[in-house]
Amino acid sequence: MNTENFSEVFALHRFSEAVEEVNSRTPGDVEVTLHSISSGRKLNFSDFLSLISPSADSYLEELAIHSKEITLERFGKAIQLYTPLYLSNECRSSCLYCGFSFENRIPRKTLSEEELRREAEILKDLGFRHILVLTGEDYSKTPLKYIKRSIEILKEYFSSVSIEIYPMKEEDYSELISAGADGLALYQETYHPDTYKEYHIRGVKKDMIFRLDGPDRGGRAGFRKIGIGALLGLSAPLGEMYFLGLHASHLLGKYWRSQIQISLPRMRPAKGEFSKVIRVNDREFARFVFAFRIYFRDTGIVLSTRESAEFRDNLLGLGITQMSAGSKTEPGGYQGLDTLEQFEIEDKRSLEEVMEMIRNRGYDPVLKDFDKAIL
Ligand code: SF4
Repeated sequence: MNTENFSEVFALHRFSEAVEEVNSRTPGDVEVTLHSISSGRKLNFSDFLSLISPSADSYLEELAIHSKEITLERFGKAIQLYTPLYLSNECRSSCLYCGFSFENRIPRKTLSEEELRREAEILKDLGFRHILVLTGEDYSKTPLKYIKRSIEILKEYFSSVSIEIYPMKEEDYSELISAGADGLALYQETYHPDTYKEYHIRGVKKDMIFRLDGPDRGGRAGFRKIGIGALLGLSAPLGEMYFLGLHASHLLGKYWRSQIQISLPRMRPAKGEFSKVIRVNDREFARFVFAFRIYFRDTGIVLSTRESAEFRDNLLGLGITQMSAGSKTEPGGYQGLDTLEQFEIEDKRSLEEVMEMIRNRGYDPVLKDFDKAIL
């Protein structure tokens, strides 16, 4: 089927049926997939569903071994490090699980050019060369012009600037690429339509389909890296993984010039009253990472400081290709401006400490953009 946007694929599937399908996988199905991996048969999407299914839990060690081998073969021992830089916490949208939500009475801040340069200087001095720029969704306080100018400034300091901002039109993405942005991260949060509607109650983010098709617009605009993800904890994780896999397959088939990256952020405490988190335990999380690595062999997998230091250390080499380090999730956080973080981070180690841990485990921390280096 020749589809323009992922929403056309999405419309052909039902979330509840997806969960049922994954749950129906038996240990026998998982063994068939494991046999295929060992014999070199090309896996299909049905194999991916077996790998994310609860039946694969008893085979976790085997999955870890395969995942480790594939990661070594495709990415070597390099672990790319980046850090987030928040331009603003202004937001006109309300997402019930987020500290920046419009209703939350928090100090709001958008960085001035001077403050942005200060943040950039601090991060550059620390050694970072790859930065991920974030904002809330306020089209008036942080319009295209502001974001474009911010990227131009950051390009004076960093070799790679990616964005994780509100979804835009294709022509706006093109402008940001011209300004120097090379990566786009746009996480769907949840692929479950009713949950999406329930938790996104105000602002542009209410438009699920506009967000869903954002990575396609980014792909057509020509981003070199496109990151997608689901916020684990909002809805049934098996359904989220099914649709995240479907989304990745769609993008890989259409935008072969872009590297597709997967992120599986787990819910962290934030300001607000959100308490309906669906827990995803460490074994499940690891199973999802291994399944993505085994099926999507060349796809980058990102692990952020939302996860604990111990868990991040243990997952090193088993599928992950990128990690954030020394992160602050508030605008001006690196220079100590008094604002509010979007969520609490779990791994609070500095860049140096994370680099040391990576080296101690026999891997190479990479601060520049290794995709560019490889190209
Ligand atoms: S998740 Fe993004 S859009 Fe939603 S409230 Fe937070 S900053 Fe705003």
